[in-house]
Amino acid sequence: MSRVYNFSAGPAMLPEAVLKQAQEELPDWHGAGASIMEMSHRGKEFVSVAADAERDVRELLGVPNNYKVLFLQGGASTQFATIPMNLLRGKTTADYILTGAWGKKAISDGKKYCTVNLAATSEDTKFTSIPPFESWSLTKDAAYVHYTPNETIGGVEFHWVPDTGDVPLVADYSSTILSRPIDVSQFGLIYAGAQKNIGPAGVTLVIVRDDLIGDVLSTTPSVFDYAKQAEADSMLNTPPTYGIYLAGLVFKWMKAQGGLAAMGTINERKAKKLYAAIDESDFYSNPVEKKSRSWMNVPFILAKAELDKEFLAGALTAGLTTLEGHRSVGGMRASIYNAMPEAGVDALIAYMADFAKQKA
Ligand SMILES: *Cc1c(COP(=O)(O)O)cnc(C)c1O
Repeated sequence: MSRVYNFSAGPAMLPEAVLKQAQEELPDWHGAGASIMEMSHRGKEFVSVAADAERDVRELLGVPNNYKVLFLQGGASTQFATIPMNLLRGKTTADYILTGAWGKKAISDGKKYCTVNLAATSEDTKFTSIPPFESWSLTKDAAYVHYTPNETIGGVEFHWVPDTGDVPLVADYSSTILSRPIDVSQFGLIYAGAQKNIGPAGVTLVIVRDDLIGDVLSTTPSVFDYAKQAEADSMLNTPPTYGIYLAGLVFKWMKAQGGLAAMGTINERKAKKLYAAIDESDFYSNPVEKKSRSWMNVPFILAKAELDKEFLAGALTAGLTTLEGHRSVGGMRASIYNAMPEAGVDALIAYMADFAKQKA
């Protein structure tokens, strides 16, 4: 078997050690004579798997005790609506910071529930920057401030956390969760689809401060009610059991790597060397302002766009896959999440140098 270096933005690579363990445990989980995916979510085996996953992600992120950790369904996109359903709490306005395509979708669904105040946007720079905090026009009495710490398509990342005072900060962490340590107490709510840095698609992680839940819009379905889900340990209905099991294996793998401090060191190193290779060459370029470049998603364009197809074909031959940029921006994008080994980034850099030498 030979595994490629898969630069997909999501679903993305999983650690090989996790896949091997899952393979080994697939038909007979820990002597139970059945696969974890064939077991009742109410049985003691799966309940222990889910409890381990929650404990491990709490430990990795240092989640304070006054926060609930939920494993939900529907992807990050479902949260675009469930956040206002849960967090408006009698208010009618929420602030949104727009730095890319995912924020736009969050706003579009947010508008169905409340007045969206666009407090800051970098659309004028084609989402290649982050508006400085001093320029934000925040509403004093907003229900929450929503932003996207890492815009997956544009490759724009906040390397700082906004201080919104008493107004809860809500963050779509889908593509940068667990990539480095964060201080959860700075947030009212953090959410992330699993398929980038957590596990397979189908699980959505929500971390929410417990004083913010329990006062939903009256039309909110039970499964979208954070308080009800928290009360039921995220098992109001059948949870995505196999996805939660795999996420749990990924959490254990991260702990074995040394936790988020170690992941952060490796991720910073991987990103810095790839950006250095791009900046040092005349053949490749990245449009994002330097202080807001993503550690996770690195878009780049070739000086000669007509060579894109050839670049991708050669990459494939070298075992480097899914480098094509998002259809909305073109060019290339290398997503280098936690599970992308540093050797994969090194192999990409070597291939890029070689290609540029031949074609420049
Ligand atoms: C991938 C992604 C989403 C969408 O996730 P789904 O699970 O497909 O709904 C939302 N926000 C960000 C920042 C993403 O990267």
